[in-house]
Amino acid sequence: MTPSYEVYALKYAERDTTKSQFFFREASGDPLTLHFYVWVILGGPHPVVLDTGFSAEDAKRREARNYVSPAEMLRRVGVKAEEAPLVLISHLHWDHWDGYQLFPGATFWVQQEEMAFWTAFAGQYANYRQFAEAEALADLVRLNYKGKVRLVQGEVGVLPGISAHWIGGHTAGLQVVSVETARGPVVLTSDASHFYRNIERRDPVQIITSLPQMLRGFDRIDELAGASRLVVTGHDPEVAKRFDQVEPGIIKIA
Ligand SMILES: [Zn+2]
Repeated sequence: MTPSYEVYALKYAERDTTKSQFFFREASGDPLTLHFYVWVILGGPHPVVLDTGFSAEDAKRREARNYVSPAEMLRRVGVKAEEAPLVLISHLHWDHWDGYQLFPGATFWVQQEEMAFWTAFAGQYANYRQFAEAEALADLVRLNYKGKVRLVQGEVGVLPGISAHWIGGHTAGLQVVSVETARGPVVLTSDASHFYRNIERRDPVQIITSLPQMLRGFDRIDELAGASRLVVTGHDPEVAKRFDQVEPGIIKIA
């Protein structure tokens, strides 16, 4: 029998940007606030964390506000980041990977295409370089040589009732995560859909490696979510309204 999982979105920082950055060919410079999250799945033999967040140094360098360490947010739901054995990485942008040092006991699950793209091709072009930190990627290579990275491809089972699915689009090997819960399947989209507007209006972000993949990814997320529609987008402050915010920054999805 599949365990009954609980899923939390943990908000650890905020940053102001503009609509033109996050919607396709959107001209508006109207303000838009990003919330930064890590996600955790409880109820199995051990917690499963999705993404590492970023470090306090990144918060300064990239002008994020209200930063609380993702490790502290995890502690508030009873998870010790330093002991977490399994961390899924949706993609290798700085805000999803640079917090890896908070998880010294983890094996990191990354799509093979994602690792290849960011450790080689992306460094050739300023367009992509700005979204990652070379030092954090160098450490990913080191962790791989220490046996602490599991390269996955396509669709992969994580634990019974938890699976990761290659989507691509926003980055070459972006993966989303699907979790069976008592309320139905929950889909953690990460940046396959930053905001609900992206997926609900089929209005993709401009930061992409493949627009067709991004568009197909919306269809795949809808398929995975099915009728229960428990879709948790990657940076939308509205997650706290659509689901149950039990404490500031701690949002219970199911
Ligand atoms: Zn992001």
